Amino acid sequence: MNLVLFGPPGAGKGTQSKILTEKRGLPQLSTGDMLRAAIEAGTPLGLACKALMAKGELVPDETVIGIIADRYDQPDCKNGAVFDGFPRTIPQAEALDKMLERRRRQIDMVIELKVDDAALLARVEARIKAGGVLRSDDTPETLTHRLGVYYKNTAPLIGYYQGQGKLKTIDGMAGIEAVTSQIASLLDAI
Ligand code: AMP
Repeated sequence: MNLVLFGPPGAGKGTQSKILTEKRGLPQLSTGDMLRAAIEAGTPLGLACKALMAKGELVPDETVIGIIADRYDQPDCKNGAVFDGFPRTIPQAEALDKMLERRRRQIDMVIELKVDDAALLARVEARIKAGGVLRSDDTPETLTHRLGVYYKNTAPLIGYYQGQGKLKTIDGMAGIEAVTSQIASLLDAI
C-alpha cells in the first residue's frame, strides 16, 4: 500500500507515519528527514538546501523527486510506503504518480490531517516554553512563513487528489491516539 499523509507543517504527519511504520511495516519516506540527514552529512545536496530549509522555503522539485525515487527503490519499500511531507507541489504529485506508474504501482490513499493554524502556533510556543530540543525551523516566525508556503503551493494538492477520488480528510486536532485510530479505520476499509 502506498499512502500519502498530507497536512500543514506541525499537523502530526511525522508522528503518525512512525506509528504506521511500527504497526503496518510501511517505511516512512520523509523528504524533510532525508534533507536534514543530507545537511548533517554535509553532502552537496544538503549544503544546497540548508538556507532554503532554514527560511521555511521549499527546495526545488527536482531535488526531492530525485531523492524520493532513489529511496523508493530500496527493498524495504517492496510492499509500499508512507509518504510524509511529499508531495508538496502539483509537479511533485505528478512526478510521484509517474514514478509509481512506471513501477506498476499507485497511490492508494491520501489522508489529510485537518488542523487549526492558531493551534499549530500555540504548539510551537509550548515547545519553546518547555525548552525541548527544537529544529532550527521550529519557531513561530518560520512556522507562519511555512504555513503561507503550504497554502500557496501545497494546498492545491487537495483538489488534485480529490479529482482522483483518493482524498480522505480526518480531524488532526484530536489526540495522537484518536488520530491513529481514525487512520486505522480508513486503512482497514480498503
Ligand atoms: P518537513 O520536515 O517535512 O517539515 O520539511 C522541512 C523542510 O524541508 C521544508 O520546510 C522544506 O524546506 C524542505 N522540504 C521537505 N520536503 C519537501 C518537499 N517535498 N518539497 C520541497 N521542500 C521540501
